[in-house]
Amino acid sequence: MVALTFDDGPSLRDTGRLLDLLAEEDVTVTFLVLGTQVASGREELLKRAFDEGHEIGNHSYSHAIFTGLKADEIRNELEKTNDLIESVTGSRPTIMRPPTGAYNDDVVSVCSDLGLAVINWSWQSCPEDWNHHDNPDHIAEHVIANAQNGHIVLLHDTNEASVNAMPRMIAGLKERGFRFMTVSQMLSFLGEDHPQPGQVYHYMTLPSS
Ligand SMILES: [Zn+2]
Repeated sequence: MVALTFDDGPSLRDTGRLLDLLAEEDVTVTFLVLGTQVASGREELLKRAFDEGHEIGNHSYSHAIFTGLKADEIRNELEKTNDLIESVTGSRPTIMRPPTGAYNDDVVSVCSDLGLAVINWSWQSCPEDWNHHDNPDHIAEHVIANAQNGHIVLLHDTNEASVNAMPRMIAGLKERGFRFMTVSQMLSFLGEDHPQPGQVYHYMTLPSS
């Protein structure tokens, strides 16, 4: 199993195109969205992603770095975005990813209060797509070569190259026998109390069969 995750959207340029590709391939993923992006006229894209079976998580309101904020500011960033996501999809997120992955005790404690698990990513299979804006083949090949059972793969649906990498990446991962899950679907294999609010996940250790 592998969970592909897309941060920083929805993107007017690339998210719709990504959703088309995922539907064609019957692949479900997770979107960690920004409140500012959703609020700037992209509610329909968010609704479509949710309706098509993808998981929606919280990636803050303004992409502020949480380790530089006070606890009440962190809470405000997360609550505003949770409210927005719920108003569009009818469902409140249970997962979040802090901008740049940076977290501290305040982040963990606020997330625990708000019922949010902290979802970072597996560094081994991270293609660092932010450094590869015109190399979809690198992005695809890095993930195909390095993905392991239980990995959470970090991508951005604001990066055109990452969306362009998807047909090749999906084909290569399918060839290696991977199944695609949302983060919460994958974590539920750890037990029904996962994802757990306030817990930080980078990958899962799964039985290999
Ligand atoms: Zn981000």
